[in-house]
Amino acid sequence: MWEESTALFFKKSGKYTSKGIIFSGGVLGTVKLLLKFKKSSLPKLSNKIGNMVRTNSEALMPVTAMDKKTDYSKGVAIGSILHIGEHSHLGPVRYSKGSGIWRLMMLSRVEGKSFIIRIYKIFADFITHPIKNLNTIFVDDWAKRTQVLLFMQTLDSTLKFKERLFGLGMKTKLEAGKAPTPFIPETQSIAEKYAKKINGKPMMPNNEALFGIPTTAHILSGSCMGANVNKGVIDKNNHVFGYENMLVCDGSMISANPGVNPSLTITALTERAISLIPHANTFENNYNIS
Ligand SMILES: Cc1cc2nc3c(=O)[nH]c(=O)nc-3n(C[C@H](O)[C@H](O)[C@H](O)COP(=O)(O)OP(=O)(O)OC[C@H]3O[C@@H](n4cnc5c(N)ncnc54)[C@H](O)[C@@H]3O)c2cc1C
Repeated sequence: MWEESTALFFKKSGKYTSKGIIFSGGVLGTVKLLLKFKKSSLPKLSNKIGNMVRTNSEALMPVTAMDKKTDYSKGVAIGSILHIGEHSHLGPVRYSKGSGIWRLMMLSRVEGKSFIIRIYKIFADFITHPIKNLNTIFVDDWAKRTQVLLFMQTLDSTLKFKERLFGLGMKTKLEAGKAPTPFIPETQSIAEKYAKKINGKPMMPNNEALFGIPTTAHILSGSCMGANVNKGVIDKNNHVFGYENMLVCDGSMISANPGVNPSLTITALTERAISLIPHANTFENNYNIS
């Protein structure tokens, strides 16, 4: 992966000394770089850069148990998946004990169309359930006492990433489907039912509760695979259309919403792409060691 400073150096000097390049900066790193290079040193890159950016349309729903003996921190991080509908499923996520920084990012789980309504509901909840609210703030070990429910869907909606003026980062625009929302109808009732069962308090990330901005840990696409340069940024073997020996191997290559945690898919596709590079499988060939 090019550091930006290195890339700028290459651009200024006009010298390209690498025999091959693999972009693997994740969606936010690779797409940003490719958008920049499309306008400067790599004009033949596809116009599809930044298109079809998507997520797992997920919701992260922590529920903090009031019982001080509860311990959700042991075991596999995500050991099971419950299918709860044609397009949706739920994974219970465990965090190892001591992972408590998350609590600072959480507020009561609320819904509502405007900031005013949601802030009113947060205050009302605090007044009606003061003990539960205080318990979630001052809980001794957030990871032990909290079951995070990860709701994911195969339903798709896509965004388009564009470069801001003067190269000041990227901006997004809805491309297709419904705008992503933190208030997915099923999620509120799932969180409430689960909280009732474990005598817990359902929470949500504060950017969602306050500003209605959905959270994702699974951002995907933006340098999608396609049949040709008019349909995608890379081919089925991860090679960038228009240039030799240039590959994209990260979440930005994924051209659909798998509806599940994506890192194994990213790893598998990357391993496949690398295995197709001639001689890439021998250390000796790569490094000229005899
Ligand atoms: C909190 C959290 C929990 C998650 N849990 C799971 C899970 O349980 N299971 C699962 O499958 N997935 C999980 N994910 C998603 C998973 O981590 C990502 O889908 C995956 O890591 C994406 O891989 P990537 O190679 O596209 O990018 P990344 O893993 O983000 O790697 C990109 C790398 O490039 C670097 N970089 C970016 N720009 C530049 C640049 N200009 N120059 C040099 N380096 C640069 C970044 O610093 C980073 O190290 C989770 C994500 C988060 C945030």
